[in-house]
Amino acid sequence: MRVTVYAGSSPGVSSVYAEEAAAFARELAEGGHEIVYGGGSRGLMGVLADAALVAGGRVTGVIPRSLYEAEVAHLGLSELHVVDTMHERKDLMARLGDCFVALPGGLGTVEELFEVWAWLILGHHGKPVTVLNTDGYWDGLLDLVGGIACAGFMRPDESASLVPLAKAADLFALCAAWQPPPPRWA
Ligand code: AMP
Repeated sequence: MRVTVYAGSSPGVSSVYAEEAAAFARELAEGGHEIVYGGGSRGLMGVLADAALVAGGRVTGVIPRSLYEAEVAHLGLSELHVVDTMHERKDLMARLGDCFVALPGGLGTVEELFEVWAWLILGHHGKPVTVLNTDGYWDGLLDLVGGIACAGFMRPDESASLVPLAKAADLFALCAAWQPPPPRWA
């Protein structure tokens, strides 16, 4: 399986973010799964890639030319796609992955997560979309999503289609049993 991972270009204030990102990457690599990510060497993105590579995993990066230097592209990856725009990056990352996971991150991570999740709800793909809820990092977002459904702006099965994970094994179990929600306009 190819797992597309979105993650912060910063490390966050607590070492727990890096520890859990590394443990998650190792579990994926040891299970024989490939990681697709944004191709940077900084922050949780770099921690994720390094941990998977050390564990013998295959890691593919996708980085826009304009961010190659700013995000310090990781030069030790199994494969690095340098694309022209942020839109191409997000499109390729979405096409390459069999499922999606957001680790803790900032605006970029949230934006990438919401786009790929919106595409699931609109029926553009049928692949699982998840968040690794390290130390309750995504609790506020999950509460917001629940509130959106309670207020009638999203179906309950749509809100439940964003799945929190505690560890990589939860992702494997989810993918084995995965049923996408019916598309919004079906
Ligand atoms: P961040 O979570 O803000 O540290 O960003 C994680 C990754 O998302 C970085 O590789 C950013 O280049 C990327 N990204 C994608 N879309 C955006 C956006 N609209 N704003 C900021 N970063 C973005």
